[in-house]
This record gives sequence, C-alpha cells and structure tokens, in this order.
Amino acid sequence: MFSAPYDKPLPRQGDPRKFAQQGAQMSGYLPVEKLNRIRGLLREDQAQARVDLTFGISEEGKLVVEGQAEADLVFTCQRCLGPVTLPVEASIELAMVRSEEEGKRLPRTLDPWLLPDDGNTDLYRMVEEELLLSLPTVAYHEEACIDEQLLSSGDPVEPKPAENPFQVLKQLKGSPKK
Ligand SMILES: [Zn+2]
Repeated sequence: MFSAPYDKPLPRQGDPRKFAQQGAQMSGYLPVEKLNRIRGLLREDQAQARVDLTFGISEEGKLVVEGQAEADLVFTCQRCLGPVTLPVEASIELAMVRSEEEGKRLPRTLDPWLLPDDGNTDLYRMVEEELLLSLPTVAYHEEACIDEQLLSSGDPVEPKPAENPFQVLKQLKGSPKK
C-alpha cells in the first residue's frame, strides 16, 4: 500500500535535540490507533499516518524540526451519519524550547515544542498534536449524501449539501490566496 519510505514505523522515542544536532531525517508510518486523542474522534482507527521529519538547526541557531504528517481518516459524516474518509495533512515547523517564555520569543513562522533539557520524548505525541490542529472542524461528505428535501424540512442552519467544510474554513479565515 505504501511507497518505499513509509514501509516501516516511525520511531516513537528519541531525543529531538540530539536529532537536530545530527541533522537526522526520518520517514515512516504511524498507526493511528496509537494516538488516543485523535482516535476518540474517529469512526475507525485502522489507519496509518505517513510522517516525514527533518531535524536541524535554523539560521537563528534554534533546534528545529520540519516535515509533514498526513493520513486518510474515517469520520462520521455529520449529515448522513455514514462513514466519510477525509485526507488530513499537517505541516510541521517547530522550534524546541525549554520554557513557554522562550516559545513566545520565536519568529512567527515557528511554533514552540516544549521539551525538557534532554532525554527521550514521545515523537508520536508531537505528531498527534500537529494532526489535531489540522482536523476538519466538521466532517461532511463533499457530495450530496442525503435527500435535499429532508434537509430543507430540517434545521435551517444546516449547511447546503454541496458545501465543503474546508471551503467554509477558508472563507472564515478570509485568505483569498490560491
Ligand atoms: Zn454524508
């Protein structure tokens, strides 16, 4: 099912600061059933997230990790209550910090990753956090999945059948780009 780099699991434990000093790169899959917070929001948890991470040192001398995580996740459609598979993509750009104060001083493009001074950290937790931030606010089928007549007799605030939740989100954020 997966292309070559994703045929092995992403390491779960490691010292991110060490990885950054080594310029480590890692790719792998991550079983979604190991992500308890996301799991509870899904209809089925038998999915794999594909993850790419590149650790390094930024121009400002910050220890950073960049990469992405993506997964096709099965939610319950809030309109027809059937299963709906939605692609979820998180772009990861984090700087390792020792305190929230340090996090506040980061350049705007970097989000803080609060870590102890050294030692092993659960990388899956970081990936889960980033995926959680990228979940759709509401899961719907893109196509009309229930009878429109049922809809029009129902709740008037119900979105139109063809409405795409991602589109709505874009409008709310007011970003006309792309
Ligand atoms: Zn539906």
